[in-house]
Amino acid sequence: MLVTLKEILAEAERGKYGVGLFNMLNLEMARGIIEAAEEERSPLILGVAEVHLSLIPFDYAALIMRDIASRASVPVCLHFDHGTDFDKIKAAVDRGFSSVMYDGSSLPYEENIKNTLAVSRMAHKKGVSVEAELGHVGGGEGGTDDGTQEMYTRVDQVVDFNERAEIDALAVAIGTAHGKYKTKPVLDIGRLAEIYKVSKNPLVLHGGSGLSNEDFRNTIDNGIRKINICTEMCVAAREAYIASANHEIMFADAKNAVKNIVKGKMQLFGSSGKA
Ligand SMILES: [Zn+2]
Repeated sequence: MLVTLKEILAEAERGKYGVGLFNMLNLEMARGIIEAAEEERSPLILGVAEVHLSLIPFDYAALIMRDIASRASVPVCLHFDHGTDFDKIKAAVDRGFSSVMYDGSSLPYEENIKNTLAVSRMAHKKGVSVEAELGHVGGGEGGTDDGTQEMYTRVDQVVDFNERAEIDALAVAIGTAHGKYKTKPVLDIGRLAEIYKVSKNPLVLHGGSGLSNEDFRNTIDNGIRKINICTEMCVAAREAYIASANHEIMFADAKNAVKNIVKGKMQLFGSSGKA
């Protein structure tokens, strides 16, 4: 059944566990992700990122995702990840997504608030949840810049941002980066704990692929409720395609490789058995 991000994360906060956002780029990935959620009895946030719409047409993505949500025996949130373009975010709302992210993290603070608020007002009219990012997670979705200390989320801006941007979930920058890490990430857990203390909204961790199991548990213990995963699934699928013994079964092999990654993350984040 289709649920909003707000509903899934409120449950996660009550149970003090994390829920993965798993982005899909094709049908095999989507199937691996939903099979994992049903076998693990885990709530699911299934997403597609704006930057990936060059790889999968928006209408196909929405068709696959809506169909999965309507058949699912676990709660499924359909999330539009890293929207930067108001019209594309509105298109996601119109296509039946139950959650959208506006990413104004590379803009000046006041501009980030202004643009996020416009998205919040548009999305909330349709009952759709909104996530926004304060501070800037490096790497970009598919990009190359590394996060630096000045881009970390400022604790003194959290309350103001939550209030004025009228959001439902807050993505924070505490030392992770998108894509494959060039160097080992150093997480600022002290800063995360401070943010958690003052934030009325559930916290989101981007750039999670490549963190250690201990890192993940540590961030969840300190308030992270949504964790974005993409790169690790893509790497596993690629390896499965290459290693597959047969040109016909390679698609099923890739689907199963994605499923294994997702199941492992659901167990690690504590969302297994919660649906
Ligand atoms: Zn991200």
